[in-house]
Amino acid sequence: MDWIYLDNNATTRPLPEVVDAMSEVLRGTYANPSSYHQFGKEARHRVEVARQQVARLFGSSPKEVIFTSGGTESINLAMRGLLATRPERRHVVTTAVEHSAVLRVAELLAEEGYQVDYVCVDHEGRLDAEEFKAALRDDTALVSLMHANNETGVIYDVPRLCQLALERGALVHVDAVQTAGKLPLNATEWGAHAVSVAAHKFHGPKGVGALYLRRRTRLTPQIVGGGQERELRGGTEAVAEIVGMGVAAEAALRDHEEVTRRVGELRDRLEAGILARIPFAHVFGAGAPRLYNTSNIGFEGLEAEAILILLSEAGICASSGSACSSGSLEPSHVLKAMGIEDRIAHGAIRFSLSRFTTVDEVDRVLEILPVLLNRLTALQPR
Ligand code: PLP
Repeated sequence: MDWIYLDNNATTRPLPEVVDAMSEVLRGTYANPSSYHQFGKEARHRVEVARQQVARLFGSSPKEVIFTSGGTESINLAMRGLLATRPERRHVVTTAVEHSAVLRVAELLAEEGYQVDYVCVDHEGRLDAEEFKAALRDDTALVSLMHANNETGVIYDVPRLCQLALERGALVHVDAVQTAGKLPLNATEWGAHAVSVAAHKFHGPKGVGALYLRRRTRLTPQIVGGGQERELRGGTEAVAEIVGMGVAAEAALRDHEEVTRRVGELRDRLEAGILARIPFAHVFGAGAPRLYNTSNIGFEGLEAEAILILLSEAGICASSGSACSSGSLEPSHVLKAMGIEDRIAHGAIRFSLSRFTTVDEVDRVLEILPVLLNRLTALQPR
């Protein structure tokens, strides 16, 4: 089937140049970068070129880049690795709308005796700087916050929030998994100690990510072994994946302006089209700065799962933020934290576009979606 793929915040299609570079490495440069022979040195060279490319994405120096297996590993490494260097402080601040990779670590930290505070957001998904500031304490060891929310696309004022956290002497981790390749990351200017990214969110391969670690920042490794990545992350480097990530990072920077403009126009066309055709549609975070590719829309009175099934049958891939656990459909924790009514949150569908999305695809969704929703509303008990 020719899918209309509007689930790019979940993962993206690798760019052809990424696939080409990876396949060339898999075929030709399969040596271990730690090996002494010339072939190993070739592999090492490829890894170091990729490190420079990823450093440009971070706005950092290559020495500040650690390759990992993805966003979740980077986040675990940053949060646990930074905290371990500061055993005397036992307080952690994060937000109520983080990705589960951060929330799950925070929960485990709480079980281990840390005090964890979750700063809340307003109805538009905005994080209030004053509330955030009030949560910081003299014994705050670590702050972990996202650059933009994966469900709503709402962007936080990371430079300001970092500054506030740094003023209180906290270590700062930024989850930029959803913004890398979409927004400029100015890790150095932010002053953050660590920033997490994953290649598959910006048209690179799965199975590889990176952690920016500010120079002279101490970090306790969480995976130990062969001493790779300056002894901060053991394990033979995934050379092809790392090379693919580097190529994807370079392409993202190269095409940034054009992609932002074009995809932004398509997202606005989709959103305006849906609002014009469907009177019971609500856009989440519409009043806040948002990622140009993301539109999360609640279809009041309907169930997201039913909509997703019909969309999928029609060849359209989208997502819902809700998790189906133990048979009960819980609305997403992000929409709950925003205070969205259950009737609307239950019908939340996230459309996330990419550089591969076309105007024809958007128009096709605008044709199909109202028909599907009519079918569902007709089935609703009156
Ligand atoms: N953080 C955010 C904001 C995300 O959107 C995701 C993935 O959806 C992750 C972390 C986890 O990344 P990965 O699944 O690549 O490990």
